Amino acid sequence: MAIQWFPGHMAKARRQVTEKLKLIDVVIELVDARVPQSSRNPMVDEITAGKPRLIVLNKADMADPVVTDAWLRALKREEVEVVAVDAKHSKGLKQLITGAQKLMKEKHDRMREKGRNPGPIRALIIGIPNVGKSTLINRLAGRNIAITGDRPGVTKRQQWIKMKGGEMELLDTPGILWPKFEDQLVGYRLAATGAIKDEILNLDDIALYTVRELHARYPEQLKERFKLETLPEDGVELLELIGKKRGLISGGYVDFEKASELLLNELRHEKIGRISLETPADHEMA
Ligand code: GDP
Repeated sequence: MAIQWFPGHMAKARRQVTEKLKLIDVVIELVDARVPQSSRNPMVDEITAGKPRLIVLNKADMADPVVTDAWLRALKREEVEVVAVDAKHSKGLKQLITGAQKLMKEKHDRMREKGRNPGPIRALIIGIPNVGKSTLINRLAGRNIAITGDRPGVTKRQQWIKMKGGEMELLDTPGILWPKFEDQLVGYRLAATGAIKDEILNLDDIALYTVRELHARYPEQLKERFKLETLPEDGVELLELIGKKRGLISGGYVDFEKASELLLNELRHEKIGRISLETPADHEMA
């Protein structure tokens, strides 16, 4: 993550989103389908209060489809629609537009009754860094747009990006919000999926957290990928065994750091399969 979030930055990010909310009909909140709760901004409900919201579980191609379905059900609320999308490969974009249209239906119907044309839905994409905001804007627009964040001292006129079908217009600068920092587990989940840089937390700790989670949630995928017959209960032993299997030995010992890097790389590049690291049940939402 290129951005270091200090209290001043958070206040500014919040102000910028609040300003943009005045211009739009619908908020599109982008989260990572593999960690939908941990990749939300802690204050998003408060910041966007009063605006219809579409929650988009992005990178659904990398997440466990069964868990994504559970999230789709758990997150649905009044004034909130939820869709799963793979922005990278332009999958789920139609549902995304339908979701936004559902949120605006009543208001648009009333306008039409009065003989007014509602025009395209105006939307703002918001989310923490790396969830795929730029990718989604480009896919919805059907062309590559140079997307820059808001920079201090640069007041830029907001531009509307027309979408291919004409149903929606997007603000060209997404709202960038900060992730949750207080909870260490959230940090590990975001680090495991590559949403925050490894330097922020200790690499070995991230790998240990990850291998334990994989053991608990996806033991068969872990066995298959690393050709293991049984999985040691202990996380350190398991990570060492993985290192050993891949020949990551130096001076007669398993190179723990190399084994850690290998595991995280394979997870982030989908070599271990489609994996979700949190479920609604983890948050007592199921
Ligand atoms: P932003 O910081 O929120 O604007 O995120 P980006 O759009 O720059 O995306 C961050 C990374 O995630 C890039 O490497 C994208 O290619 C990747 N990415 C974005 N959306 C998806 C998706 O739906 N599936 C997959 N597999 N990768 C994605």
